[in-house]
Amino acid sequence: SVFAHPEFDNHERVVFVRDAESGLKAIVAVHDTSLGPALGGCRFWTYASDDEALTDVLRLSRGMTYKSALAGLPLGGGKSVVIGDARALRAEPARAEALFRALGRAVEQLGGLYTAAEDVGTSVADLELVGRETRHVAGVARGQVGDPSPYTAYGVFRGLQAAVRHKLGRSDLEGLRVAVQGLGHVGQGLCEHLAEAGAKLIVADLDGERVAALVERFGAEAGDPAAILAADCDVVAPCALGAVLNDDSIAALRAPVVAGAANNQLAEPRHGELLRRKGVLYAPDYLVNAGGIIVIAYEAGRRGPRFERAQAMAHIDRIHDTALEIFARAEREGIATSLAADRLAEERFRRPGRARAA
Ligand code: NAD
Repeated sequence: SVFAHPEFDNHERVVFVRDAESGLKAIVAVHDTSLGPALGGCRFWTYASDDEALTDVLRLSRGMTYKSALAGLPLGGGKSVVIGDARALRAEPARAEALFRALGRAVEQLGGLYTAAEDVGTSVADLELVGRETRHVAGVARGQVGDPSPYTAYGVFRGLQAAVRHKLGRSDLEGLRVAVQGLGHVGQGLCEHLAEAGAKLIVADLDGERVAALVERFGAEAGDPAAILAADCDVVAPCALGAVLNDDSIAALRAPVVAGAANNQLAEPRHGELLRRKGVLYAPDYLVNAGGIIVIAYEAGRRGPRFERAQAMAHIDRIHDTALEIFARAEREGIATSLAADRLAEERFRRPGRARAA
């Protein structure tokens, strides 16, 4: 049963979508719309079972509610997942079009309760097809923003600055050693900000060319991908995969601060507490990596007819102060920063008596 599912958290709506002609099998989950319509990506994945897809969409949509609430956006949390092999589909453009348009009709039927955006396995082109059937699509058409990663990188940088200020009592990064794991879209952008601020970089990626480029550009030190989290440094910035903070990696950590872009860095919620006990300041991932969703929200016109870059950047800047607020609260209440972040988000979207937007 969906209601008895371990990841079910009083989601407002869970819609199962089937289009026999195109083969579309999708689930749209709207977790909470107390603060506004739900915005969240559309993931296309070869789920091993329908239950795995349901687990993912319930968990991810809930995560979006927390992320948007902490980011101070007038948005709720939602997500959609398409079950199938995106690569096989791309070999059949006509079917791909039919499938994404069928998804668009399903989104349209929700009447604005959910706005779809790009995610793992979907592209702007796919979302444009969705957008032929509904206007509830973000991150396309206007095309003013393009790749949100630079905005995400800037938000991570601001969150990292806040963590350094709180933990090390420093308002600058000059000479600080920062180890960056993953030099993709966000990791590279973060390195640019860090280098500009005078930090010393230790960088690791499975792709040697990406490492070499940063060594050349910023005089970064090449780190061992297998041991980068245990580097002798001031800050570790996980910008590759999720679940990297586990019993073993936390035991091996030497840095007093962890602040990076990767989603779901804690392997389990208890690892937030483990970091606290070790005296490591963890900047909650979904707070510091919200720059992308903030800019998409601005582009989607939630705050005006045109995308105002300066306003979006000013909003992303607020990640710094929200991080300081969370760190102070965690200390005051003697709890993990991850828990303090969850509590602050919950207070924002679960205010008693708050009228529901939908
Ligand atoms: P990306 O795919 O562009 O880059 C990831 C990089 O990590 C790649 O260069 C890859 O080679 C490297 N990598 C993978 N495994 C590694 C390992 N074990 N050790 C070292 N390097 C490894 O992804 P991205 O867009 O830069 O996103 C990075 C992380 O940030 C992801 O977890 C993503 O979910 C999260 N995130 C991204 C955004 C965004 O705007 N792009 C927003 C929020 C969260």
